Amino acid sequence: MDNMDGLEVTECTRCPELVDSRTRIVNGTGPADADLLFVGEGPGQQEDQQGEPFVGRSGTILDDKLDARGLAREDVRITNCVRCRPPENRDPTSEELQNCFPYLQREIEQVDPDVIITLGKVPSEHLLDRDVAVTNEAGSLAQADLGGRVRDVLICVHPAATLYDRSQEETLDAALDKAASMAGEGGGGGQSRLGEF
Ligand code: SF4
Repeated sequence: MDNMDGLEVTECTRCPELVDSRTRIVNGTGPADADLLFVGEGPGQQEDQQGEPFVGRSGTILDDKLDARGLAREDVRITNCVRCRPPENRDPTSEELQNCFPYLQREIEQVDPDVIITLGKVPSEHLLDRDVAVTNEAGSLAQADLGGRVRDVLICVHPAATLYDRSQEETLDAALDKAASMAGEGGGGGQSRLGEF
């Protein structure tokens, strides 16, 4: 994986359509040893423009929800299944997901979080490699072999789901409560040193 420098993909042309549609590669943000690693689907328009995952409305929702649990965006790591914006915000194809998977695997291995939280259907199904009924399964823990070992994956709805269906807010809240309670369970991670951030 020669085009990954630490946690940053610096150049990549594996997905021709996404190379055409992206403005830039959007890498993950947050501490390199975060206890919580959130994984979204891929960059949207604002993420593509600003170069950061989960900005815009869904980012504001996530920030507010983290804040309510005593966490700041700077305390957690946020990344995506694909790092380049698909055209017209279509879902990434399975080939594109596979193209980008080695980068995500390496990020998971290096960050070594206590729990990985999947935000929405695409990342949940991608990381668990099965069909996921996100609303029904949100808040439940699954296990998957990722980044070199079997890890806890907490299924969560996409923050934007609460914009269209208020009943999803409780589901999001319950999943994030669980995520916050798991931070630090692995010992020695970022949450135990929140003062540094
Ligand atoms: S989505 Fe990932 S694999 Fe595809 S071009 Fe972008 S960085 Fe490369």
